[in-house]
Order: sequence, then structure tokens, then C-alpha cells
Amino acid sequence: TPSHTSPRRVLLKLSGEAFGGGHIGIDPNVVRRIAEEVAVAVRHGVQVAIVVGGGNFFRGAELQQAGIDRSRGDYMGMLGTVMNCLALQDFLEQEGQATRVQSAIQMTQVTEPYIPLKAIRHLEKGRVVVFGAGAGMPYFSTDTVSIQRALEIHCSEVLMGKNGVDGVYTADPRKDDQAKMFTQLSYNRALVDNLAVMDASALSMARDNTLPIRVFGLETPGNVTRVLEGETLGTLVSA
Ligand code: UDP
Repeated sequence: TPSHTSPRRVLLKLSGEAFGGGHIGIDPNVVRRIAEEVAVAVRHGVQVAIVVGGGNFFRGAELQQAGIDRSRGDYMGMLGTVMNCLALQDFLEQEGQATRVQSAIQMTQVTEPYIPLKAIRHLEKGRVVVFGAGAGMPYFSTDTVSIQRALEIHCSEVLMGKNGVDGVYTADPRKDDQAKMFTQLSYNRALVDNLAVMDASALSMARDNTLPIRVFGLETPGNVTRVLEGETLGTLVSA
């Protein structure tokens, strides 16, 4: 029997910086709260896939500054994202929310490999899927991977959770009190004005495939649930 409306399926991007609460490593209070808020939305029928960054451990570009080969540093960065995924999985499971981690780098004792059709099946069964290790390739970012995964598993939107800001502004609101938040912004404007949404490769992939991106503030309690359930918070980047 054909269903009336297909369920909402979205991809949530969480930066590693948020997971660390501004420090190296994991802030359990932050990760637990995010997990609680995700679990509420899933109980309300939203299908949630998540890409987690790794900036709270390592960034390849920074390791390069410290004298480490860029690609090797990038792999270190990718491995950091997997630790964040496992922490998020643990807190989600503590909420009673079944969760699978799929890594782009094989580590089959701790995660499944990235298998897109299986990821879709997990979502249909009400499980959260967390994607780790980025694209498994140096010189990529977890922002770019968020767009790619969202496209491949047919998510309607990418929801970018930010720390310290609640949307995209005309200038840095922490430095300029005249800065205004956009409620809507075109891909081209974000690219041309180099507004701090995500990196240019990620933005251009979203533009080429007209995938909407919503940038919102992670810190306000309840925001993660709200945005997952479709509230129009923050800034929508679209055509
Ligand atoms: N990374 C990579 N390829 C990918 C994804 C990530 O090489 O596909 C590396 C890169 O070094 C990056 C680090 O992993 O700096 C952590 O990811 P990211 O900086 O995107 O995390 P976030 O800023 O969201 O915390």
C-alpha cells in the first residue's frame, strides 16, 4: 500500500568543536544533551543521519603546521571523528535510541563499514546512523561529506549545528554589533561573499544539487529537536 507522505529524513552535521565544549576531548554534558534532543525527534518520527566532525581532536591542516605530513594528519583527523561517533552512539543508546556508526575507514570491531543502502534501511527502522571518518580521504572536510552523504541517502536537508552563532551573519556578530543574521541566503551569495557557512567545496556541491542547508545554533536548549522536526531556525541557504 502506498504511503500518504514520506517521513522527514535529514542529515545533522555536528562539529567536533561542539563535542569538546571548547577543549580537546569530549564534554559528556554536551554530547548527552545532543543525544537526548536527537532521541526526542526520532521518537516523533524523524529519520536522522548524523555526520560528526573531529576538530576537538585533530585537524590535518593544523598538524601540518606542526610538521606532520598533511595526508597523515588528515587521517589522524578522520580517526578523531570516529571517537566522537562512538561517544554519541553511547549516549544515544543510553536514551534507548538504537544507533549504528558507519565509518568510511574500515574498523569492523567498532563500526560498520559505510554501506549507503544499509544506512537507509537503518533509518527506515528508526535507528540513528552516525557517519564517521569523513570521506575516508585526505583533503576533504566533514562539511563536504555531510553534503555527499545527505545526497546519497536522500535527505531533504542538511542541518549545520554551530557553536557560538545561531545562523549566518553579514559580519562576525562577536566583532561587529551591526551584523545582521540572514534568514535566507543564496548559495552564490554565501560563496562569493565567503560567508562562514561551510567550506567552498561543500557549498558548491550543495548548490550543484540544490540541497538546502540550514545553519542553526547548537547551544540553545531544544534547538536540535526543533530543527530536526522542521522548525525554521537560523539561516536557510538555498537557491
Ligand atoms: N578529514 C579528512 N577527510 C574527510 C573528513 C575529515 O581528511 O573526509 C580530516 C581533516 O584533517 C579535518 C579533520 O579530519 O581537519 C576533522 O574534520 P573537520 O575539520 O571537518 O571537523 P570539524 O571542523 O567539523 O570539527
